[in-house]
Amino acid sequence: MPHDFNNSPTADIILRSGGQKAVAEFRAHRAILSIASPVFETMFSLPQPGAEKSTPVCDLSEDANTVEALLRLIYPVEGPNLRSLDELAPVLDAAMKYEIAVALSRLRKMLVQPDLLEKDPLQAYAIATRWGFEEQMKTASGYTLGLDIINSPTADTLNAISTANYRRLLIFHLERAQGAQRLLDDVAPRNPVCSACRAYVEKWHEEFKRKARDELSVRPTSKIVCSLDFLAPIVDAIEGGECTMNSCRRGGRKLETYRFYLEVLRTRIDMLPNTI
Ligand SMILES: [Zn+2]
Repeated sequence: MPHDFNNSPTADIILRSGGQKAVAEFRAHRAILSIASPVFETMFSLPQPGAEKSTPVCDLSEDANTVEALLRLIYPVEGPNLRSLDELAPVLDAAMKYEIAVALSRLRKMLVQPDLLEKDPLQAYAIATRWGFEEQMKTASGYTLGLDIINSPTADTLNAISTANYRRLLIFHLERAQGAQRLLDDVAPRNPVCSACRAYVEKWHEEFKRKARDELSVRPTSKIVCSLDFLAPIVDAIEGGECTMNSCRRGGRKLETYRFYLEVLRTRIDMLPNTI
């Protein structure tokens, strides 16, 4: 059972949420909030109106979800379930405002949880840059490599990133694309012994390099170009059935050669700098 902030008989302060959503009340403890936040500590050192008769109420501008998440980060109870960066961002803003160090360190880690990062790495980058979280900024930058960062960002995300930090990301993508494209020329598949198979592999390779160069200029990651999904249409367009040479061990062998090449290429691309 998650802790219920409505049912807390020892509470000596009621935090009342604001925002657009319905107002909610959370019964909390001044001593705990004062330890967690110097802002609350100062607030509670002032006389609380009505404290003699009933539990005083403290009005906050944050909405109910944000207040609850913040309390779950402060109290020794099950942590908040923040399923998206849209949910995390206002909690981080509030943790900054109330200077809640314990919440900040937990939120910084949550910001770079793979499941949240994969959903929207650019938004994670924007949030990290906003608060100057250099380490999280670097981690998020690596996850943006699978994104077309020129065409895909929404206006909201772009507005949240300073020009300098967006430029930093663009240069990172550009350098990574150039590095990966150079590898297309440096690494080549082994030639099959059979001359007919070799001719196929050469044709695949020409077409693969052409398509991979374009793809890497937009998304400079090995994840897409080194996948069999990327290779399949190239093979399908050129493959003319099994090899007919008598001396040849046939069919799949040349694809095996190519798969091996893709793994080597993947390893080499993955060794390029992978964060800003
Ligand atoms: Zn052959």
